[in-house]
Amino acid sequence: MKTIFEKTSGVSGVGFNECKLGDFLPEELLRKDSIGLPQLSELEVLRHYKELSDRNFCIEKGFYPLGSCTMKYNPKVNELLASLEGFANLHPMQSDEDSQGALELMYKLQEKLKYITGMDAVSLQPAAGAHGELTGMMVIKKYFEVKGETNRTKVIIPDSAHGTNPASAKMCGFEIVEVKSNEKGQVDVEALKSLLDENVAAIMMTNPNTLGIFEENVLEISKLMHDNGSLLYYDGANFNAIMGWTNPALMGFDVVHLNLHKTFATPHGGGGPGAGPIGVVEKLKDFLPSPVIAFDGGKYYREYNIPHTIGKVRSFYGNFGVLVRAYAYILMMGSNLKLASADAVLNANYIKEKLKGAYDIPYDVPCMHEFVICGEKQHHQGVSTLGIAKRLMDSNCHPPTVYFPLIVHEALMIEPTETESKAVLDEFIDTMLKIAREIEENPEEVLKSPQTTPIKKVDETLAARQPNLTFKGN
Ligand SMILES: *Cc1c(COP(=O)(O)O)cnc(C)c1O
Repeated sequence: MKTIFEKTSGVSGVGFNECKLGDFLPEELLRKDSIGLPQLSELEVLRHYKELSDRNFCIEKGFYPLGSCTMKYNPKVNELLASLEGFANLHPMQSDEDSQGALELMYKLQEKLKYITGMDAVSLQPAAGAHGELTGMMVIKKYFEVKGETNRTKVIIPDSAHGTNPASAKMCGFEIVEVKSNEKGQVDVEALKSLLDENVAAIMMTNPNTLGIFEENVLEISKLMHDNGSLLYYDGANFNAIMGWTNPALMGFDVVHLNLHKTFATPHGGGGPGAGPIGVVEKLKDFLPSPVIAFDGGKYYREYNIPHTIGKVRSFYGNFGVLVRAYAYILMMGSNLKLASADAVLNANYIKEKLKGAYDIPYDVPCMHEFVICGEKQHHQGVSTLGIAKRLMDSNCHPPTVYFPLIVHEALMIEPTETESKAVLDEFIDTMLKIAREIEENPEEVLKSPQTTPIKKVDETLAARQPNLTFKGN
């Protein structure tokens, strides 16, 4: 496929009036050459982007069981509400008085998220999950600074953690200490005990963890940490596993981030705008990013007076359009949020039970919203996890997450989400079973995949050794 530059037909979709910039700008600032933008008609532009989008895989096209990423369906009513003129055209520098509707929405979203997480205060500023982690760790760091406990320089992170956890803590200047998992795929409490001393600031955990397993000892862990004077950070990116059934406050956590662009049905993928709000317990409230959105009983306003604030972590107040979508989703779902979690968990367990036998499942316990397969059983035929993932692409299915979590060899991490029907799950199960049979009977066919995608199987060695990354325009 050609790039839009190569498609330049010389026709322009827009006409500009002759304008003598030289009348306004000094001569030396004027462009000497042509600007080099593609020249196409409106129809040519539309065809170009339609062709591109047809090559893209998206949730509207097929099943997308990408573990840890919660690629659920995002109801279109959210889009409608986010594009309401009063929201979409509001300028962030307009006064509180002129922005009452938007501030009310943000305030009420904060309240909902407080309720859902059990936390005492919420900031909507962080723009992604990892950004929420960074913000939360900055809050923890400042808390200990103000307390005069600058010796607390270590953060404990389980070996099953999402990679962003150690990255965020490290960016904050903490030293990372890994705690290993036990044979049940959960934090090894004895190993954790041996790591505790007066230099530990916090533990970062996710529950259920990245194996999709609920940490049974979480209450013991939170007591251990608090007895040690340390705090607990909860990675709530995959909150649809527990939403409405329990919450991080009940488990003893002090800080949590959520991914609105996973659990709360706002679009993600392609690095588009997201939102990773954080919630904190009462004693950390005074450290939140400024401003938080407040209500005095009559008016909503931006509260900048936060005694120990870590400052701003994003321009203005976060990704407002994402906040509108998430709020719409929460209102629409109401107490059904609890059902969404139940269905996410049910769907994952259903697939897991059906694939058992055909594939190895290293931690075969009832899972939460996702589970992990090990592709080793297929190795004797020369097919790896990567091969299974690529073969799935020939059945209009996005591959699951592969080679993560790191503690499972040849991992294939499957998260169906609650928004898929039983028919779709059954189709996926059939495809997976068919691939398992195919690997035994005709592995060469599997190794040729993907065969039906716009770009077929590529020579990965060549691509890695001699990458051709530049487009040379005319
Ligand atoms: C997705 C995810 C993150 C990171 O979220 P981003 O918005 O991609 O930064 C962190 N932790 C877990 C467990 C996740 O699944």
